[in-house]
Amino acid sequence: MISNANTKTIQDSDNEIVPEEINKFRYKDLKINEYSYLFNNSTTEDLLKIAYALKTKHKSKKIITYSRKVFINIINLCKDICSYCTYRKEPEEIGISLLSPEQILSIVEVGRKFRCTEALFVAGERPESKYNEAKEWLKKYGYVSTAEYIRDVSEKVLKKTGLLPHSNIGNMTKKEMSLLKETNVSLGLMLESASERLSNVGMAHENAPSKHPKVRIKTIENAGELKIPLTTGLLIGIGETLEETIVSLLTLKKLNQKYGHIQEIIIQNFSPKINTKMANFLPPTHKFFLKVVALSRIILPEMNIQVPPNLTPNIYGNYLDAGINDWGGISPVTIDHVNPEHAWPKISEVEKTTRDKGLTLRPRLPIYPEFIFSDKRYLSKEIEQYVMDLIDSDGLVKKRYLG
Ligand code: SF4
Repeated sequence: MISNANTKTIQDSDNEIVPEEINKFRYKDLKINEYSYLFNNSTTEDLLKIAYALKTKHKSKKIITYSRKVFINIINLCKDICSYCTYRKEPEEIGISLLSPEQILSIVEVGRKFRCTEALFVAGERPESKYNEAKEWLKKYGYVSTAEYIRDVSEKVLKKTGLLPHSNIGNMTKKEMSLLKETNVSLGLMLESASERLSNVGMAHENAPSKHPKVRIKTIENAGELKIPLTTGLLIGIGETLEETIVSLLTLKKLNQKYGHIQEIIIQNFSPKINTKMANFLPPTHKFFLKVVALSRIILPEMNIQVPPNLTPNIYGNYLDAGINDWGGISPVTIDHVNPEHAWPKISEVEKTTRDKGLTLRPRLPIYPEFIFSDKRYLSKEIEQYVMDLIDSDGLVKKRYLG
C-alpha cells in the first residue's frame, strides 16, 4: 500500500501517468514500492520520456561515450560457479586461458595499433584458491596471487604501450585493491544484484559465494575507501524481482553517496547460454529491460549509465531513448570473452546509431573525466601522466591520438 503523500497523486491519476504529472513528484526520493508503482503504471513511452529528460538535465546533452578497448582474458579458471556463466572453464576444457606476460603484451600491442586506450584485464574469481593449475601458472612467473600478477603485468602494459589498465577480477582484499590502484586507472566489479535470495538453493548464485551481495558490497566499499574509480552494475533477468532490482539500484546509489567513487553503472540484460543451468531460463523482454534502463536513470539521475550494445543486436539504439549516456567498452580487435556468442558491433555502426538519434559518439578513457579532474586523487601518481597524454580539455580521448 502506498502511503506517501508524493504518490497520492499517482493514485489519483487513475493509473494513467504522463511525464508532466510525474515531474511534479520528487521521484528522486521515492520509496521502493513507489518506484515499483511508477514502473508498473507508466507506459514504456512515458517512462522513457522522464529518463531522457533527466539524462539531458544531468549529463551531456549531445555526447555519448564509449571506451575503445582490448579485452585480455588472463585466466578463466574460477573458484565459483554462476548458473549462467560460460566464461569460466575447467583446466581440461577447450578455451582455457592462462596468459603469459608476453602473450598479454602481444594482444595489447594489437590493440594499440587499433588505437585502443583501454586494456581490460579479466580473470575468474581467485582461481589460485581452487586450482593447482592456477597456482603453478602464477609460480612460473614468481607470484602467489592473481592480483599481484595483474598489478605487475599492468605496469608492463602501461610502460610499453601506454594503454590504460582496467581490471575486473572479482572480489579482492583491500590490500590487493590498493596494489592494483598503483597500475590501474579504475577497477570493475559487478554487484549483479543486491538480492540475497539469488544465493539460495536452485538460484543463479547458489554455487557462487563471491556473488553474495554482502561480499560484493564490502568490496565496493573498500574501493570507495581507497578512492578507486569503480565500474559496477546489475545483471537483469537472473531470477530477481522488480523490487529487488530497485533495492539494488538504491544500494548502489547509497554507496556512491557515501564514497563518490562509482564512475559508471552497467545495466546488463541476461542472455541465456547453452550448456549452463540457466540455458532455458527466459531472458527479460526488450520492453521490460528498456523500462529497467529508464528506471535506473530515474533512480540515479546523475550517474554514468551504460548498456552493452552487443547483447541486443540491431535495436540497441533504443537504450539512448531510455537515458543511457555511454556504451561501455567496445573492442575493434578482440571478442567479448564473457559473451563470445555476441560480437561487438563495428564502432562505425555504433557511431551511426548514435548519430541517428541526434547524438555524437566520443571515445573516453577507462576513467571518466570527472575522476581525472577530481581533486580527490583518484589516480595514482605513477599513472597520472599516461592519462594526461591521451586526453583533451574535456577529459575525452584527444583527436590526435585517434589519428
Ligand atoms: S560469472 Fe564470474 S564469478 Fe561467476 S562463474 Fe563466471 S567467472 Fe566465476
